[in-house]
Amino acid sequence: MQRFALDPVRDLLLIVDPQPTFMELCPDELPVPGAEAVIPVVNRILAGPIARAVVTQDWHDPAHLSFASQHPGKRPYEEVALPYGAQTLWPDHGVRATPGAAVHPALDQAKVVLVLRKGYRRSIDSYSGFRENDRATGTGLAEWLRAVGVTRLFITGITRPYCIDYSAADAAELGFDTFVVEDACSRLGADAALDESRRRLESLGVRFIGSAALLPT
Ligand SMILES: [Zn+2]
Repeated sequence: MQRFALDPVRDLLLIVDPQPTFMELCPDELPVPGAEAVIPVVNRILAGPIARAVVTQDWHDPAHLSFASQHPGKRPYEEVALPYGAQTLWPDHGVRATPGAAVHPALDQAKVVLVLRKGYRRSIDSYSGFRENDRATGTGLAEWLRAVGVTRLFITGITRPYCIDYSAADAAELGFDTFVVEDACSRLGADAALDESRRRLESLGVRFIGSAALLPT
């Protein structure tokens, strides 16, 4: 198995949305099966040679337009047309400054040097940590990473094939050497959709690895 010689400047762990709102801890929000089990895997990586990490955090307006509750007659997982295109509707989740939106308290934040909040504009969702769902509004993350010398990203967190896969696709398109750490990512939905998303990411140059590749030999 390939193990990576990690550089303290060039390499960075991206931890996507490690928030209770996506866990069984918050059954009335947007629980993703198995999401909480990602935290100890990420903590093991953080205890290894990786030097720096960034956390993204879903941070929605209470009346966010990605919430089904804002669209009378619509239910979660239906789609609506927003000015920027089709948007899947979700249960209310990640509402700013609520307990569910916090960074999970068990995450080891010692190496986390930036927490980037996304999705805070009421009218635009943001799956990706790099670009909002209108595909035009940047979050500033790419510029920040370049400013501090990062060229290679290892992506973990919650959840494929949404916020993780959108972030990975954008990272690759923006020129970062991009890896998805499969066993450090939760999964939502059918295997076929996850496989199709993986193939698309691989066509963009994203590679899939196991977390052991980031740990000491
Ligand atoms: Zn969200």
